[in-house]
Amino acid sequence: MDTADLIEVLADRLGPASVLTAQSELEAFQADLLNKYRVPALCVVKPANTEEVAATVRLAREAGVKVTPAGGRTGFAGGAVAREGTSQIVVSLERMRSIRALSPVDDVIVCDAGVTLAEIRQAAEAADRYFPVSHGGEGTSQIGGMVATNAGGNNVLRYGMARANILGLEVVLASGDVWDGLRALRKDNSGYDLKQMFVGSEGTLGIVTAAALRLQPRPRERASALCAVPGPQAALELYNTVRSSAGELLSAFELMPHSGLELHLARAETTQVPLSGRHEWMVLLEAETSIPDLDLGGLLERLLGEALEQGLIEDAAVARSLAQRNAMWALREGMAEAQASSRLVIKSDTSVPVSAVAEFVDRATKAIHALLPDAVPIPFGHIGDGNIHFNIGAPPGMSAETFASNEARLSDAVCDTAIQLGGSISAEHGIGQLKLDKLRKAKSKTELEMMQRLKNSFDPDNLMNPGKIVEADDPALKQEAQS
Ligand SMILES: Cc1cc2nc3c(=O)[nH]c(=O)nc-3n(C[C@H](O)[C@H](O)[C@H](O)COP(=O)(O)OP(=O)(O)OC[C@H]3O[C@@H](n4cnc5c(N)ncnc54)[C@H](O)[C@@H]3O)c2cc1C
Repeated sequence: MDTADLIEVLADRLGPASVLTAQSELEAFQADLLNKYRVPALCVVKPANTEEVAATVRLAREAGVKVTPAGGRTGFAGGAVAREGTSQIVVSLERMRSIRALSPVDDVIVCDAGVTLAEIRQAAEAADRYFPVSHGGEGTSQIGGMVATNAGGNNVLRYGMARANILGLEVVLASGDVWDGLRALRKDNSGYDLKQMFVGSEGTLGIVTAAALRLQPRPRERASALCAVPGPQAALELYNTVRSSAGELLSAFELMPHSGLELHLARAETTQVPLSGRHEWMVLLEAETSIPDLDLGGLLERLLGEALEQGLIEDAAVARSLAQRNAMWALREGMAEAQASSRLVIKSDTSVPVSAVAEFVDRATKAIHALLPDAVPIPFGHIGDGNIHFNIGAPPGMSAETFASNEARLSDAVCDTAIQLGGSISAEHGIGQLKLDKLRKAKSKTELEMMQRLKNSFDPDNLMNPGKIVEADDPALKQEAQS
């Protein structure tokens, strides 16, 4: 079967409306969110159910055509866009949108892969439960994408990454077989935990078609505070102090530099920061509990009062209403959004041990200034998880083109600093096609070979999302292994 036949056979099997070939319809699937990658696809297939996903994979396999799964396409690593130089179809899960089951007793929700993260959070809330994975892209990102990227977000500190909230999966394998691993068990030591292979695999091992997700008791009290801190070291000490007293109630602890906030404030029309004066560093922290009437606001006020006396904070505001809380988070999310599509900001997604965050910020700042003295460090993010997005703003007046020509060495400097401190080049966004070189630099030969063996055993023909993370029988890795 050649590629033209494949499109025809797919249209026969799934119905013509499920196979898009018009350029205008393909457009959105051929570029990533940041417009870094623009790669043509043969067609976009939109299966309506698991059996149609399996049929699509089997037919693509017969035609020797590669398969790229696409969720909400909010990923930052170019994972949902085909790889240049291969003939690929994109399989979009967006028509698979059913919530299959929800059991408050089991604390489990089972859904199709195309349901959005926001929809799952709403469905949980309607059943008086809570699904804790949450981030700025949740209105569009899908559960399949969340699984495939092992998404993190704002509540990892308390609830873990997506991985910690997944009980079971249904996956279409590269063979076209369906693996029904949709178990909702809390305890299951019956052999290898296969679902974990697919979490964070970025579509390279199979297509996730459904997930059983773990729910939590719904938080009934929440308290949030915005604090001005003298610097990252003080932020770290504040984190340690608050965590010692608030324990598991602490659910978010976010570092916000003025350099990042400035970008947001420049775009926002009415936003106000609820602290007086200009502060180089701020922290947004939040505590939550499912126990009604617990005075979390009072607890935070007491802890922050003590921190003020110790010089760990310079000023603080505790949110007294939902509107005030939302306004604080709007600052945090607005800061990330202002950078997301800017060509004058180089993005990073590094993590280090929590204890090394301040040293990381200090060393990475020196490293980028050694390369480009007027570059603007914008280190922000999930300090409680050691996940600092050490973004870099262009020196004032520098053109986007000149700045882009510095990207590789600036980005390497940040990643190298993280690695030296025992960190990771990708905390939550994944490798995709963005960080292939960095992955090879960061991992040992032994680890890369283990990854290669895993890929070979799940997808020996390199059908699934080739050119992301690792290829089956990757020639570059083979060469490295021999050298
Ligand atoms: C404003 C904003 C804020 C964000 N904040 C965060 C954050 O704080 N933390 C965080 O972790 N991420 C964040 N993200 C990134 C993004 O939302 C997550 O990576 C998300 O999990 C991706 O889901 P998606 O459905 O959009 O996946 P896509 O972007 O469509 O795909 C991502 C990868 O998963 C694969 N994939 C998608 N669906 C499937 C499937 N069903 N089966 C197998 N593979 C599949 C794709 O091939 C690709 O490799 C943010 C994004 C935006 C736009």
